[in-house]
Amino acid sequence: MTTPAPAEVGHGIKGPTVVEIDAFRGRLISADHTDYDVARAIWNGTIDRRPHLIARCIGTADVVAAMRFARDHDLEIAIRGGGHNVAGTAVCDDGIVIDLSAMRGVRVDPANRRAWVQGGALWGDVDHETQAHGLATTGGIVSHTGVAGLTLGGGVGWLMRKHGLTIDNLLAVDIVTADGGLLRASKDEHPDLFWALRGGGGNFGVVTSFEFRLNSVGPTVLAGPILWDAPDAGEVLRFYRDFVRDAPDELGTVVRFGTAPPLSVIPEHLHWRPVVMVGTCYAGPIEDGERVLRPLRTSRPPLLDLVGPAPYVGFQSALDSTVVHGWNYYWKSTYLPQLCDDLIDVLTEHAFSCSSPRSYAAMFHLKGAVGRVAEGATAFGSRQASHAITLDAVWRPGEDFGDQDTAWSRRFFAALGRFREGVYVNFLGGDEDPGRVREAYGDAVYDRLVDVKTTYDPENVFHHNQNIRPRTGTRIIGSTRAPH
Ligand SMILES: Cc1cc2nc3c(=O)[nH]c(=O)nc-3n(C[C@H](O)[C@H](O)[C@H](O)COP(=O)(O)OP(=O)(O)OC[C@H]3O[C@@H](n4cnc5c(N)ncnc54)[C@H](O)[C@@H]3O)c2cc1C
Repeated sequence: MTTPAPAEVGHGIKGPTVVEIDAFRGRLISADHTDYDVARAIWNGTIDRRPHLIARCIGTADVVAAMRFARDHDLEIAIRGGGHNVAGTAVCDDGIVIDLSAMRGVRVDPANRRAWVQGGALWGDVDHETQAHGLATTGGIVSHTGVAGLTLGGGVGWLMRKHGLTIDNLLAVDIVTADGGLLRASKDEHPDLFWALRGGGGNFGVVTSFEFRLNSVGPTVLAGPILWDAPDAGEVLRFYRDFVRDAPDELGTVVRFGTAPPLSVIPEHLHWRPVVMVGTCYAGPIEDGERVLRPLRTSRPPLLDLVGPAPYVGFQSALDSTVVHGWNYYWKSTYLPQLCDDLIDVLTEHAFSCSSPRSYAAMFHLKGAVGRVAEGATAFGSRQASHAITLDAVWRPGEDFGDQDTAWSRRFFAALGRFREGVYVNFLGGDEDPGRVREAYGDAVYDRLVDVKTTYDPENVFHHNQNIRPRTGTRIIGSTRAPH
């Protein structure tokens, strides 16, 4: 075995090329490798970190080997699932990235409505396999988002009001813990850990496999966006507020404020026009969806109505090209209560004042099955919020919009201050106040997460995340920096 001595690979010190980790069969990519820059790049192009080593695992045994190697050499550890998190926690400087991006297998048992999904799979992988049987579980609304990070933070999507959050469909996980051991967690096995994994993020170990319950969905659903001109946004939102308050659980909606993206389904003359777009997906019979959606579609004449029967799997990737890998992103986010007139005024005043034509705000409607699970039954922060909004500055490499739209996102967030009701942990950015992780969970859930963290990761080995600090965790492995 050729491994560098601990001192040679420690924080901030360049060691010799690692050519081998005992019992590791995947790829080891270090700085002198031709694939290094591609391998360290993640979705958010503003993140430019240089790990000492990327351990691209091809199975659970590799994850165990990489974990033990990292512990033996006191390396900072980052875990990469889909590499999509806007805060860039999937990659670290100087340490090791335990990279699951080659572990994208999905196995479906249609008879028992179960899916087993490897820890580096993307939602497109899951939808592709499950929809072959007319089945699905709640996933994200962009198909190139990772299953692991999304699930461990909670998981909101089109299906959540009918079928619950992603974690409400999670039955068990295989997880490699801080000591390099492999555990299965479910409601009967390590139930404290299983509770924490359903919302507590990547704080407890490296999940190599998820077992999900599946539900009948489609494969054809009634879905699509309705677009109105930006100046109509106030009136549209007032109607939308009343409409979604009484909508059946089958109806998932996301409001997007921004310009009409240049998608092939949108006529060219509308491209880049500021619009309020209500995305819809009805997870039930098409005819029922037609009836349910009629009032919204006829509330005022839209610029464009693209609602129609569509394959669920295709609809799930409809927004992919609006949030491309390698562009630059900066997010602020908060939960919001039901839309009152004052809140609508703030939304309409700020939503369209960004500079980049690619920046946008997206507001998910929650409630339904999300809110019927008791607060604290899982480690998900707030089940009673009405909406989760992200204020997303987007600019391409070489474009000048970064400073202006980062300021726009912060300004918009500040203007929402008096309406804020916590935050979805997966929408937190990389420069948040330390108190925002506690805000994401609330005191009771956060304190319980600290207990579980103290049991399973007392040294805070997994701190490259939205960190829950253990009570005993005074020693931060591999890093002199305080985790955020
Ligand atoms: C364009 C876009 C759209 C999104 N849409 C949605 C949406 O519809 N619904 C929603 O709920 N969220 C959504 N999100 C947020 C998303 O849930 C988070 O970004 C999530 O972290 C992505 O998961 P990932 O595996 O790609 O993350 P990564 O960036 O790979 O990892 C982020 C963190 O997750 C943890 N992690 C990742 N993999 C593992 C693993 N195998 N084991 C243990 N911990 C792990 C680690 O702590 C890691 O630092 C969206 C994000 C983006 C950028």
